Amino acid sequence: MRAEKKKSHGDRYRDVGGIIRIVREGLCHRCGACIGICPAGTFDVGPGGYPVQVGKCVECDKCVQVCSGIGVDYPVLGAALYGEGYRYGQFLGPVKAAYVGYSLDDEIRWRGTSGGLVTQLLVHLLESGRITGALVVVNDPGDPAMAKGVIARSREELMTAAQSKYTTSPSLAALRDLKGEKGRIAVVCVPCQVHALRKAFAFDRKLGRRISLVIGLYCHFKLDDSASRELAAVTSRGRHARRVWYRRKDGQGWPHNTVEIDFSDGSHWRSPLGPADTVNILSHVTPLGRCLTCLDVTSELADISVGDPWIRNEEGRWKYSAPGGLSSVIARSKEGEAALRSAVEAGRISLKPIPAEEIEAGQHAIMDEKKNRIPFRLALMRFAGRRVPAYPMPLPPADARIVLQESIFLLLRLLPALGPVRRLLLRLAFSPWGQGVMRRRRAQKGRKAAAQGKKEVKS
Ligand SMILES: Cc1cc2nc3c(=O)[nH]c(=O)nc-3n(C[C@H](O)[C@H](O)[C@H](O)COP(=O)(O)OP(=O)(O)OC[C@H]3O[C@@H](n4cnc5c(N)ncnc54)[C@H](O)[C@@H]3O)c2cc1C
Repeated sequence: MRAEKKKSHGDRYRDVGGIIRIVREGLCHRCGACIGICPAGTFDVGPGGYPVQVGKCVECDKCVQVCSGIGVDYPVLGAALYGEGYRYGQFLGPVKAAYVGYSLDDEIRWRGTSGGLVTQLLVHLLESGRITGALVVVNDPGDPAMAKGVIARSREELMTAAQSKYTTSPSLAALRDLKGEKGRIAVVCVPCQVHALRKAFAFDRKLGRRISLVIGLYCHFKLDDSASRELAAVTSRGRHARRVWYRRKDGQGWPHNTVEIDFSDGSHWRSPLGPADTVNILSHVTPLGRCLTCLDVTSELADISVGDPWIRNEEGRWKYSAPGGLSSVIARSKEGEAALRSAVEAGRISLKPIPAEEIEAGQHAIMDEKKNRIPFRLALMRFAGRRVPAYPMPLPPADARIVLQESIFLLLRLLPALGPVRRLLLRLAFSPWGQGVMRRRRAQKGRKAAAQGKKEVKS
């Protein structure tokens, strides 16, 4: 019977062996879903956030079925969510309404990454009894370079979890803490995790009912935890890193909130560069793994998607800007719309409708990479004998521009392999010389964007 079951799947991936193979083949993005969904406690979070086997496998195969690393069937998942009219390929995915918004509670707004909208929405849903908890992400107290998922059940816990952690974060492992949960839960995810949850809901209806709201963040990529380690090493001067902040708003406010490291002697280092430049530099000195083959920027299959409003006006300046911060918001499902509406009606958040095209223009470069360039990247990787995720829908063909951009991109990606050169590059990038180069590059980009009447884009 077991042999028949295995044969009928005809799959290269199955059960615990399948997950180990997924990790070995570089398809795991360390979302934590396999760990969280397993009914038998077979896995735990291992070094670097990868799943490791700690118990006996009951061969239910749920871990592999939930894995979005091996592929995402957008047409099937999209149709389940948005109906048969769903088509993969729009840059933003399905949009009911687009907004720029922020928390009306100053403490939450200033604690948040952008406008504190996600944290405020969760606080509202919790305090109004619409949810009993939220799966959110906190810095891992055992390792300042890592983040982890927790189920927050109070305003204080939600406030502690505010702020983006642009690092390895297998947060869906915390789904295992929902076993026996009676109430309704909201989950904050990056796109790969939204995909995993949608896959899970297809075979675990109970989980789908328990998770009443999926909030997806916009995401270009997650940095590998080695990025924070390398950065701490070049900035520490012998000090011990206690906490990494990726977008701390103290001091200059949004959009200048950038990477900071607190050291255990009470001192701290703040990146001299803005958040986009800092994260981009870090992305060039550490491996991005499975993020390099992800096709989703804005969490297209979430109920609500939230990011930064990196939207430029015709002079090349930020069109929406406030020191307290602003969030760019997309309502996608009726559950998402209802949650946002209830927070507005309760006076918890402010939402200003904006054309969805503005969000698309602001994120255009990243979307072009994910939607138009990555299909060519997948073909190249396949040609080189690398395993790539399965996307069973037609993807756009490459033209000369894409071939050129991808060639440069992939050459630059070789940098992380250069070991000792990494720290030298980091030192140079954050030196006065590197800052000058980045400033000139930004100014040039801003002028170009203004001249073209286009909106500039960050990552
Ligand atoms: C890895 C990553 C990459 C991102 N890339 C982009 C980008 O390219 N462009 C863009 O516009 N926006 C990006 N964002 C989103 C942006 O940084 C903000 O998270 C978003 O604007 C919401 O801000 P807020 O103030 O409303 O949320 P906050 O009130 O700060 O709440 C953020 C919520 O996200 C949760 N969270 C933090 N880190 C993670 C994580 N790693 N995985 C899942 N949940 C997490 C927190 O627990 C909290 O509940 C990214 C976020 C992450 C985590």
